[in-house]
Amino acid sequence: QKQNVRDYVQQVYHRVEKRNEYEPEFLQAVKEVFDSLLPVLVKNPTYINKGILERIVEPERFVFFRVPWLDDKGNVRVNRGFRVQFNSALGPYKGGLRFHPSVNTSIIKFLGFEQIFKNALTGQPIGGGKGGSDFDPKGKSDDEIMRFCQSFMIELSKHIGPDIDVPAGDIGVGAREIGYMFGQYKRMRGAFEAGVLTGKGLDYGGSLGRTEATGYGTVYFVEEMLKDKGYEFEGSTVVVSGSGNVSIYAMEKAMEFGAKVVACSDSSGYIYDQNGINLDTIKQLKEVENKRIYEYKNEHPDAVFVEGCSGIWSIPCDIALPCATQNELDRESAELLISNGVKAVGEGANMPSTQDAIDLFIDNDVLFAPAKAANAGGVSVSALEMAQNSTRIMWTREDVDSKLHEIMKNIYQDSIQAAEEYGDPGNLVKGANIAGFIKVADAMVSQGVV
Ligand code: GLU
Repeated sequence: QKQNVRDYVQQVYHRVEKRNEYEPEFLQAVKEVFDSLLPVLVKNPTYINKGILERIVEPERFVFFRVPWLDDKGNVRVNRGFRVQFNSALGPYKGGLRFHPSVNTSIIKFLGFEQIFKNALTGQPIGGGKGGSDFDPKGKSDDEIMRFCQSFMIELSKHIGPDIDVPAGDIGVGAREIGYMFGQYKRMRGAFEAGVLTGKGLDYGGSLGRTEATGYGTVYFVEEMLKDKGYEFEGSTVVVSGSGNVSIYAMEKAMEFGAKVVACSDSSGYIYDQNGINLDTIKQLKEVENKRIYEYKNEHPDAVFVEGCSGIWSIPCDIALPCATQNELDRESAELLISNGVKAVGEGANMPSTQDAIDLFIDNDVLFAPAKAANAGGVSVSALEMAQNSTRIMWTREDVDSKLHEIMKNIYQDSIQAAEEYGDPGNLVKGANIAGFIKVADAMVSQGVV
């Protein structure tokens, strides 16, 4: 019977491969989830009879649109806009918008697919979606950003709503962009529907703690994983890639927990500071001045700047937190980390480790916290923001943070338990995939073939 199920999964995957042959990131994400599901399908053949696998890999809807805008010189510019509404079994579609030149259907679909299971793991009533554009915010003026966001929202507004689909930020989309998009949405609807976007400014419906949530959540999750094995952040040396929203607040919480963070990066290269990264300098450079990370050296001449990003994984550390982007940590980087004695890896970004790298970590008993569990803090607090918007009551920072902490602990427990129950104790990749999948699959079974 096991062999039959294996053949079945292979068949379904084969069809997915055929239908999406030019979407490598999407296929990578699907394969990783499918690889975890064998024991689940053996135990619950209903999922097979009800066609859950066939249905779950097909987005409920994919919107693809033109985004024309005028640059400061008056030239017409055109970008592509995307929104995938992947799965609404658990609630309105929910997931960020990414503005980055690498954005295409494959990237959006992989992110949307991951989002389904991540959102399920949070235990909040949210489905999975994702969107974005190949627009490059780098070097654009504030006016250009605004015009782009407005044009993007003119089309997107036809497809979203507080009970339909609730976008938020991701790479290239922060509070400023959310503000411009919210303004445009409000004007088009003629109604203040606060719950249509999350990650809003605090003065118009945002939640305290949303900015910090992904990074803090990653550290909360990894701390649970470490504690189980008698380790902790306190006294550990940590390397964090990236220097955006996720990275900055992962560093902040790791430091608060008593770790020494010695390196972080941006797309130009990385900074190594043996005295420990000065977070105020990073925040000033990245959140205020929008500058490249090598400027860090101006204030901290002891620090070393090295061009190129993947080199950051050659720095010896106890805990590595990839918080930049997909596939930033490959087999070679994993080998370096392992030979330098890394104890734990926690993914703050979406799918930052390649499959080879993950396999190596697991084979070498490195504790590994997969993205869909470890970076679920951001979308968790987005769901809390939606709850606040619905009730028109704003919670305190302490309230939000303690709820976030609780959610991350629960995700850890659910994932560990699922791994144990389905025959691979300690494997959080399998555990998170299984725990997330079961929630979505059960809801899909209940709701019939739709
Ligand atoms: N972009 C974040 C993620 O990858 C947050 C999504 C949201 O808050 O909706 O989960």
